[in-house]
Amino acid sequence: MTDVADAIVVGAGIVGAACADALAQDGWRVRVLERARPGGRATAAGMGHVLVLDDSEAQFALTRLGRDLWRARDWPPSVERDDCGTIWVAADDAEFDAARGKSEWYAARGVRTGLLDARALRDAEPELHEGLRGGLHIADDLVVHPPTATAHLLACARAHGALVEPLRSVRVVGDGNVELDDDTRLSAALVVVAAGLDTPRLLGHRPDALRIRAKKGHLVISDRAPGFVRHQLVELGYLKSAHGGTARSVAFNAQPRRSGQLLLGSSRQVDVVEPRVEHDMLAAMIARAMRFLPRIGSLPGLRVWTGLRPSTDDNLPFIGRLPDAPRTIVAAGHEGLGITTSLSTAKLVADLAADRTPCIDPRWFACDRSTAELAHG
Ligand SMILES: Cc1cc2nc3c(=O)[nH]c(=O)nc-3n(C[C@H](O)[C@H](O)[C@H](O)COP(=O)(O)OP(=O)(O)OC[C@H]3O[C@@H](n4cnc5c(N)ncnc54)[C@H](O)[C@@H]3O)c2cc1C
Repeated sequence: MTDVADAIVVGAGIVGAACADALAQDGWRVRVLERARPGGRATAAGMGHVLVLDDSEAQFALTRLGRDLWRARDWPPSVERDDCGTIWVAADDAEFDAARGKSEWYAARGVRTGLLDARALRDAEPELHEGLRGGLHIADDLVVHPPTATAHLLACARAHGALVEPLRSVRVVGDGNVELDDDTRLSAALVVVAAGLDTPRLLGHRPDALRIRAKKGHLVISDRAPGFVRHQLVELGYLKSAHGGTARSVAFNAQPRRSGQLLLGSSRQVDVVEPRVEHDMLAAMIARAMRFLPRIGSLPGLRVWTGLRPSTDDNLPFIGRLPDAPRTIVAAGHEGLGITTSLSTAKLVADLAADRTPCIDPRWFACDRSTAELAHG
């Protein structure tokens, strides 16, 4: 393929890569423009936990489909897929009641879950603190390595004729056209903007309708300690901490890697874009983890990094056509779920692009939903 395209995808993080793959498989001649290195931004920082979540019906639909698509696909060994499942840890009776409620909610929607009492929790995860009340096991959640998954998706897109161009920076997106920093102008029947945090700027800032803010996060990876934890472990208070609206928060979130290492999260700082590691946040994260895994302090930490989650005001991504620019589809603002929901986002984008019946109700993710809400007070 040379210089032509039916569809231009701006941004080659995991969301852009998944969109490029889905569109190329549908027969679109796709051209991907990436400012830097594919998968090098939020995607490289992500933890790679692929999970269902129950914050809202919209979030459940997108995560459930996303997780199913991850499970249905053949991934090369480099993607380090691990079907380890999730255990949501309940510290006390109130959290255990919440776990029971979630278990019923999920079961009614066909998600495999199991309620663990204190003893079953300890049997499943012997390193956990013995005073914990129990847990909720979600068997079909998994863990992957996001940057190599992105590379694989781009390779699949290329195999279907896509042209992937790193080091091509887009200055501005119009309706069905883009202008690059080197003054090149390109046009196409469709432009998909999957530029993460940079998306609103490329579209000329729509501050009311399309606000995407940074939520900085820290992660630490330990030396090898195979079997120290066996499932992705998350405290049940995680969602409150993640979306509670506080400017800074930490929650216990520990992941076993195929390498035998332990990946530990997580922190959130709203509107912080400075990438440096902040030792007070790191200390708070580790102190929180020690309440659940008392011996975690004995594992040497090898590396710490930070990343910026692209987050929206209602914690749902924007996936849809711009009302005043119908040849432009936005796919951005996935906060802490962009790895999980990359494939379901891409399926929805491909459905919208082809004018097919969408796989999920697109109104939940419409770009003008905030404007509409504002209009209704
Ligand atoms: C600490 C942390 C932990 C996380 N853990 C998880 C997890 O366990 N599970 C999960 O599902 N999600 C997780 N996430 C969230 C997930 O990483 C993000 O939601 C996801 O990577 C967003 O992907 P994206 O493609 O939209 O954005 P990005 O990866 O940021 O990609 C956007 C791309 O657009 C490019 N771009 C920007 N501007 C331009 C331009 N002008 N021209 C051309 N290209 C441009 C950028 O260079 C970049 O490559 C985590 C995130 C963080 C930070």
